[in-house]
Amino acid sequence: MMSAERVLFVDHTGQIGGAELILLDVVEGRERSSAFLFEQGPLSKALADKQLKLITSKWGQGLSQFRRDSSWLTALPLAGRLAAIIVEIARASRTHDIVYANSQKAFVLAAIANMLVRRPLIWHLHDIISPEHFGAVQRRVQVALANARATKVIVPSQAAAAAFMAAGGRRDLVEIVPNGLALPPEPRSRSELRQALGLPAGPLVGVFSRLAPWKGQHVLIEALATLPNVGCIIVGDALFGEQAYAAELKQTVLERGLADRVRFLGHRRDVPTLMKAVDAMVHPSIDPEPFGRTLVEAMLAGVPVIATDAGAAPDILDGGRAGTLVPPNDPQALAKAIASVLAQPDALSGQLEYASGRARAQYGVTRMLDAIGLVIRKLQAGATA
Ligand code: UDP
Repeated sequence: MMSAERVLFVDHTGQIGGAELILLDVVEGRERSSAFLFEQGPLSKALADKQLKLITSKWGQGLSQFRRDSSWLTALPLAGRLAAIIVEIARASRTHDIVYANSQKAFVLAAIANMLVRRPLIWHLHDIISPEHFGAVQRRVQVALANARATKVIVPSQAAAAAFMAAGGRRDLVEIVPNGLALPPEPRSRSELRQALGLPAGPLVGVFSRLAPWKGQHVLIEALATLPNVGCIIVGDALFGEQAYAAELKQTVLERGLADRVRFLGHRRDVPTLMKAVDAMVHPSIDPEPFGRTLVEAMLAGVPVIATDAGAAPDILDGGRAGTLVPPNDPQALAKAIASVLAQPDALSGQLEYASGRARAQYGVTRMLDAIGLVIRKLQAGATA
């Protein structure tokens, strides 16, 4: 059924990261809505395929590559472009009932645009506003704008909610809506899949995140150096200006003599299938994760999860009942956990069953869409009352 609301979805990137995969689910059936993107990219086509009207900024190309740790001073020459984007968002808001910012950069500009054209403003905050991820000034600006202009702030986990409030965000704005994921394709045997994908038959782990220092792929590579028989696929690419890190990772693999067992597969659109091909999914983030979709993807795929104990991971993994938790940034502990999971696959069957049931019950896509749909409908009703 088509939704009646005219929502202006705003995102700063044309790339398809985790937040954009969620956006692609949220816009389903919303043909009266539009998407305003700062730049063109693979996301433009994916949104157009969902029948959304697409508005691309004339001024935003390349801004998604601007690193979040770049200082606001270096951003000053960009001020003119940012002001122009604010005007574009304000103009687009006029023909919509609700504005829905899907990223931190989108929210900051949409919140300022909101001073020009008032509309209920949702911030779907996919980040964790903590000192590890944002500088003090950025945190202050985001939270001040949220407190002043946001009508609702949707966060994916208790950890993200706590970080928002610890940074000064208003509690009454917060709505926790865990990410929801679709079920993976029908199971094929692991060995059959490996063959089809051209992957080796021995013990194999995988990491399935964009390449970025805080995602911790380097910690996994360090761990693998001490596990002589274990192969690894590194799935994902540098999406947001992290090309130097990607090059460094590849260099380390060469220098450590790991090239025959560590393979970089780049960004893939078939992660849920690929995941079923590995013996364990490793989630080595060194900073707290606001959610971690790949955790749930692995739980749904029936693959053991080894994740760092920070952010939302301990919650999603139910304190370790649905996966193995290891301290962040500790290659030795990670290597030990990988060796132990690979050594006793049968002992994990209870954990895998529990994890898959938990993922289906708590982190299904319908549950997420219903919760977000309700937020949107309530705001629409409030705006037209
Ligand atoms: N992903 C993908 N292709 C890749 C690597 C990752 O489609 O090559 C997907 C992955 O399956 C997951 C999302 O990107 O659904 C990443 O979301 P997550 O919450 O794990 O991290 P984020 O990138 O949003 O910080």
